[in-house]
Amino acid sequence: MNYVIAIDGPAGSGKGTITKIVADKLNLVYIDTGATYRCVALASLRNNIKLEETDKIINLAKTLDIDFDVNGHTYLNGEDVSNLIRSHEVTNIVSPVSSIPEVREIMVDLQRKMANNKNVIMEGRDITTVVFPDAKYKFYLDADVMERAKRRFKQNEEMGIESNLDDIIESIKKRDYNDMHKPVGALKRTNDQIYIDTTHLTIDEVVEEILKNIK
Ligand code: C5P
Repeated sequence: MNYVIAIDGPAGSGKGTITKIVADKLNLVYIDTGATYRCVALASLRNNIKLEETDKIINLAKTLDIDFDVNGHTYLNGEDVSNLIRSHEVTNIVSPVSSIPEVREIMVDLQRKMANNKNVIMEGRDITTVVFPDAKYKFYLDADVMERAKRRFKQNEEMGIESNLDDIIESIKKRDYNDMHKPVGALKRTNDQIYIDTTHLTIDEVVEEILKNIK
């Protein structure tokens, strides 16, 4: 029997880093659902589509070929866009793009297909509630805003993306609000998620906590 480990949480809560490590340790396929929405955002920018032109975004989303390789690289229509989808331009519009219910329908469908017949660990905002509400293990990773902003700042530095801490704090707050107030697929805490506050924990400690809960 295949199983799913579902992880949700706000931007910068450590989901990406932690999920990759757990995937390696347990030999699971890692699926970063945020990257799928980021691909739609990048493609919209490249096609000069404005955020208000929702029909055009929906039609575009239907045509996209989005894929991951075993190293976690993201491919959009065959092109490795792993770094491009992390740019400010994409980050600034990804939340509104992912708020379009039809775009979510297309991406959720794709995400479920990616998990078909595999043991997967999938992270995002609505994995425990919409994509795989019956997942065997469900986690919610959290951290306070300042800590999350510092992590994003460091991550950007490592990827050679120039950024400013105050701008990141503002952008995270805006994205949190947007992500928690979407009509469909909003980020939510529920009673059946295992909640982990990572603010004062090291990466290893969070991984340990997750592994402890997986039997
Ligand atoms: O995880 P990441 O920060 O890359 O996600 C980018 C954006 O994609 C989030 O801010 C959120 O708006 C959206 N997203 C979503 N549902 C998911 C994953 C991400 O709406 N399952």
